[in-house]
Amino acid sequence: IEIEAGIVSMIRTKLTIEDKSRYAIVTFSNRQNIEIDFDEFTPEAFEEALYGIELSPSNVANINVGLNAAFECLVKNMQKLAEGKQFRIIIISSGDFEGKGKKWEELVAISSKVGINIDAVQISQAFGHESEILQAIAKKTMGFYYICKSNADIESILTELAPGREVAGEDSFQTQEDRDMKGLLEVIAADLNTLDEGIKTIEDLKRIVNQDDDKFKCGICHSPDCMFCKGPAFSCGAFCPACGRFFHQHCCAGWAESQKDTPKNVFKCPVCFHLLKVPGAVHRISVLKENLIERQRHPDKIEVKKFNINEIGQAGAFKFCAWCRNVFNPQEEIFNCPNCGSFYHQDCMDKMTDKTMNRCRVCGAPFSIRGTAGGIQRIV
Ligand SMILES: [Zn+2]
Ligand SMILES: [Zn+2]
Ligand SMILES: [Zn+2]
Ligand SMILES: [Zn+2]
Ligand SMILES: [Zn+2]
Repeated sequence: IEIEAGIVSMIRTKLTIEDKSRYAIVTFSNRQNIEIDFDEFTPEAFEEALYGIELSPSNVANINVGLNAAFECLVKNMQKLAEGKQFRIIIISSGDFEGKGKKWEELVAISSKVGINIDAVQISQAFGHESEILQAIAKKTMGFYYICKSNADIESILTELAPGREVAGEDSFQTQEDRDMKGLLEVIAADLNTLDEGIKTIEDLKRIVNQDDDKFKCGICHSPDCMFCKGPAFSCGAFCPACGRFFHQHCCAGWAESQKDTPKNVFKCPVCFHLLKVPGAVHRISVLKENLIERQRHPDKIEVKKFNINEIGQAGAFKFCAWCRNVFNPQEEIFNCPNCGSFYHQDCMDKMTDKTMNRCRVCGAPFSIRGTAGGIQRIV
């Protein structure tokens, strides 16, 4: 009860300093459990979850399991991060735990690199090696380490922990730590959902092809056609995995490049602020623009290669021909514009090139074609 009261006092104090703070509770013994996650946080829900925890003294706790769970929980939340937020883990340990396997050392190394402070509060003086581990964790991550000598200590020590360390200011923006942080953002950013993951029904298929549905207007350029590759919604569309908002992948790439606080291929969803990654296959917009200029200078240069739709697996079932707007047959040999990613039937490509309209119908990139006419190379 002293521990719970101490934690409640700490949270209340923290909220008077910084009312946007969010907390999660992770308990661990031989397995871990997230009692309340950041999303569910309100002071009331937190207290209810806290007083509902039943710790079983018969289970041996493992610090590796516990720290790993807390770390995962925090990293998930960091995808929705706001600038200047301080990330902390507070370990409150009241008994023996195992620290074999040294996984905690790995987590501590990452934490110190990306600026997660880990505070350790030891509630008992009875343990030796465990104290050393807790001290090492706090020291390496610039956290605080305390031993509570009596029950009366618990509340005052935990309350003292509330303010935490000073958050680094604007002037540290270009430090090594900042660059390391950007490296981590790349690791923790979530992948966009592809069209086949986001379009589940025939109704949705019709809506995206019809081009006049608000659901398939991009959350960045507010249009069904991509502002960069000029393709329709289904040529480079994708979805935010957190809020489901539709975007063009090229608009995401352009948005990511314009953001100063994230790596060049990482951006925050403009709708829900979830941290997202531009797919590796999408050209950086600056490169796309350079390519377009280069192609205007040398219009014969862009090569469109034939490949089997089977090569892109399940996703193939959701691709359309940009010329006739029909789907493809399984195993069909098709063409793919290397500039905007649009797909074409072989027949449609032949019709286009016969009529000397040898440009991508979607993005206007001029084509020369390889691998047609029974494997004999033909350059149009
Ligand atoms: Zn767009
Ligand atoms: Zn596009
Ligand atoms: Zn979103
Ligand atoms: Zn076609
Ligand atoms: Zn194209």
